Amino acid sequence: MLTLALSKGRIFDETMPLLKAAGIEVLEDPEKSRKLILPTNHANVRVVLVRASDVPTYVQYGGADLGVTGLDTLIEHGGGVAGGVATAGLYQPLDLQIAKCRMSVAVRSDFDYAAMVKQGARLKVATKYTTIARDFFATKGVHVDLVKLYGSMELAPLTGLADAIVDLVSTGNTLKANHLVEVERIMDISSRLVVNQAALKMKQADIRRIIDAFSAALSAGK
Ligand code: AMP
Repeated sequence: MLTLALSKGRIFDETMPLLKAAGIEVLEDPEKSRKLILPTNHANVRVVLVRASDVPTYVQYGGADLGVTGLDTLIEHGGGVAGGVATAGLYQPLDLQIAKCRMSVAVRSDFDYAAMVKQGARLKVATKYTTIARDFFATKGVHVDLVKLYGSMELAPLTGLADAIVDLVSTGNTLKANHLVEVERIMDISSRLVVNQAALKMKQADIRRIIDAFSAALSAGK
C-alpha cells in the first residue's frame, strides 16, 4: 500500500493533475466527503488528508510514504531549502511548481522600514514563520523581537502588536486591503514532493513510477 499525504484546498487541487499523469485518480471529493482516507482507482494507493503543517511530520515518521507540502512548511518543520535529503528521513526529490507565492516582509504604509533598518532599530516582527523570519533578519543583521502568531498576521501592524510581518504573499491583495506594503521579498515558495526515505527503499518501484510521472508532467507543462 502506498499512502500519499495531502492537505485540502490548493495543494490537493493542484496535485490532482499530476496524479492523473501518473494514472492515479482520487475517487472522492474531499470538499464533499468527511473521510480522512480517500481511495483511488488503484487498490494499493490511498490519499490521507492532513493539516498542511502536519504533512512533513506524517511523511518523516512513516504515517505516509509521500506527501506534498509548501517549502515554507518544510523549512519551518526543519527541512532544508536545497533538494535531496532535507530532514532526517525526509527526501525531497521534486519542486512541483504549484501553490506558488513568496515569503515577504510587510509593514504599514506609513512605517519607514528602510530608515528603521538603517538606524539599527530593533523591530518587532509578527509571524507564523519564525524560522524563516529569524534566519532572514539574522543574515541581514537586523535585531528583531519575534511575535509568534497562528493567523491573520496582517492585523498585527494595524493594532500596534508589531512593526512588521513576515507572511506569504500571492497577488498582494490582502496586504493592499489592509494598507500594508511589501518591503522585502525573502524567498519564492512553491510546493514540494517529499518522500519517506525508508519507503523509498522498501517501495522503490512504486514510488519511482510516481516521481517519474510527476517529473514528466512537469517537463511537459513547461
Ligand atoms: P494574496 O492576497 O493573494 O497576496 O494572498 C495572501 C494571503 O493568502 C495570505 O494570508 C497568505 O497567507 C495566503 N497565501 C497566499 N498564497 C499562499 C500559498 N501558496 N499557500 C498558503 N497560503 C497562501
